[in-house]
Amino acid sequence: MKRIYLDYAATTPTHPDVVKAMLPYFTSSFGNPFSIYACGQDAKEAIEGARASVAALIGARDEEIIFTSGGTEADNAALKGVAYASGGRGQHIITSSIEHHAILETSHFLETQGFEITYLPVDEYGMVDPDDVRRAITDKTIIVSIMHANNEVGTIQPVAEIARITREAGVYLHTDAVQSVGHVPSTVDELGVDLLSMSAHKLYGPKGVGALYVRKGTRLVSFMHGGEQEYGRRAGTHNVPGIVGLGKTAEIARQETDEEAERVTRLRDKLRNGILESIDHARLNGHPQARLPNNLNVSISYAEGEAMCLKLDREGICCSTGSACTSAVTEPSHVLAALGLDPLQAHSSLRFSLGKWTTEEEIDHVLEVLPRIVTRLRAISPLLKSHG
Ligand SMILES: *Cc1c(COP(=O)(O)O)cnc(C)c1O
Repeated sequence: MKRIYLDYAATTPTHPDVVKAMLPYFTSSFGNPFSIYACGQDAKEAIEGARASVAALIGARDEEIIFTSGGTEADNAALKGVAYASGGRGQHIITSSIEHHAILETSHFLETQGFEITYLPVDEYGMVDPDDVRRAITDKTIIVSIMHANNEVGTIQPVAEIARITREAGVYLHTDAVQSVGHVPSTVDELGVDLLSMSAHKLYGPKGVGALYVRKGTRLVSFMHGGEQEYGRRAGTHNVPGIVGLGKTAEIARQETDEEAERVTRLRDKLRNGILESIDHARLNGHPQARLPNNLNVSISYAEGEAMCLKLDREGICCSTGSACTSAVTEPSHVLAALGLDPLQAHSSLRFSLGKWTTEEEIDHVLEVLPRIVTRLRAISPLLKSHG
């Protein structure tokens, strides 16, 4: 059976050109970039080339890029780094209720360390109101962290508007741009951010590598101590092949972002229209316009998300649902709950995320298979009977 992968927001396959670029750094150019002999210097040059490529993608200077083990580490480094650098001058952090767990769990940890966190609400489309940010800032606030694009519902936040507020208040602004860098324009000056997280594996690169952008002059404490790598901000021998892979993904993304976004938007809209037209009680989650080109999140009432996912999987289609099955209980997604969806709607949600290798035939196939699955599930659903 041919597999149809529609979960690019969870991770992407690595681009063949990226794999090709990485391979020599496992074998012939395996040296430690900190060594002074030639093979080490090859690795060092490759890292600096990757740094320049990542910097160019987001409009930063080379020395403002710190390589990390991924988006999670970049998020941890940003929040903890600024929190611990504040030296008691301020103990207040502002974030939103729809952040990725990498930000939310870091925030919860910092609460145990004496920091006070404000979790801003979002509207029905998953949008943070910049005025809420303005109102939440106090003289104790050290950093605001608002994600650029949400990984579940795709909503793109008004980061540039929020930046005008944080700048005026003299507060740092961090954005988790793991879902947006390389997918929609995401340059640090247009966004106005002081810190930005990104990850290779959401952009056709390898897993386990990412970067944190830190604007020059930002006070940040390292939370990884050891060697002097990454300007003393992130100790540990470099993941040379991974970093080279991230550099290559950035280079590819810089060449084709616009065209790719248009192509994917067209396919995504076809999938959205097809689902909303052929399935009753289906609704779009997230913002109708301000959203990632590749993201579609729908609630299909009276059909359970996980059941739909499993049935789609049996037909070779990979997508995800808004309820994460943790241990025995199925918890509705914190994002859908924050948008105001009731638990039933949240439990009936599906996320399709498209990518570089998604084809029109694949979308047509999903539109053929999904309505049939929904009809069958609803036939045995007690929810629809009690409703009808
Ligand atoms: C995937 C993701 C992360 C985590 O990145 P990793 O590289 O997997 O650690 C953080 N934030 C968002 C929005 C993500 O989608």
